[in-house]
Amino acid sequence: MFFRQIQQHSDNFSYIIADEDSKEAAVVDSSYNADELTKIIKQEKLKLKYVINTHGHSDHTAGNTELISDFAAKLVAYKQSKTLHDIPVDDGDVLRIGKISIRIIYTPGHTVDSICLLVDDQKLFTGDTLFIGECGRTDLPGGNGKAMYESLFGKLLKLGDAVEVYPGHDYGVKPSSTIGEQRKTNYTLKPRSLQEFLDFMSQP
Ligand SMILES: [Zn+2]
Repeated sequence: MFFRQIQQHSDNFSYIIADEDSKEAAVVDSSYNADELTKIIKQEKLKLKYVINTHGHSDHTAGNTELISDFAAKLVAYKQSKTLHDIPVDDGDVLRIGKISIRIIYTPGHTVDSICLLVDDQKLFTGDTLFIGECGRTDLPGGNGKAMYESLFGKLLKLGDAVEVYPGHDYGVKPSSTIGEQRKTNYTLKPRSLQEFLDFMSQP
């Protein structure tokens, strides 16, 4: 699998994943990285099929228009997302680029339209739901602590320890991790009841 993590003009990460045989590719969160993404896609002669938004916050979608104008790609977002999209997706949906599968995991909490993407059961793109050593904030409009609890503990932590974690921002001590390592070291993922988690998240 072709894979790049890109971070240029801010702490926002963008990602390119591609199937090396068919050259079909997807971008996860264009953010402020459209120029670099475009350069790599052209250099590698990739066929950009999807630009997938982990959620609608503008720091993640900022490069969409530029990317779409350069390539015949479709914008993908959660079905109820207010961000502009061509392909609405729901929990459990699977997109394909060549032989690679991209499974949608609906993970509200940071926003109502947050999704994580599980690629070939191996790489997890977590947007602003889970960071390395942190989780996403729930105090912005559309945020919901109970939904975040269910997304983290009911969905993401159910994945295997070997699954690699690629977050939407460079907030951690390193740019990526694994579910197993986060389970052990991320203080937001310590075992807590729902009420304990809500109390924890509401601390200043
Ligand atoms: Zn966000």
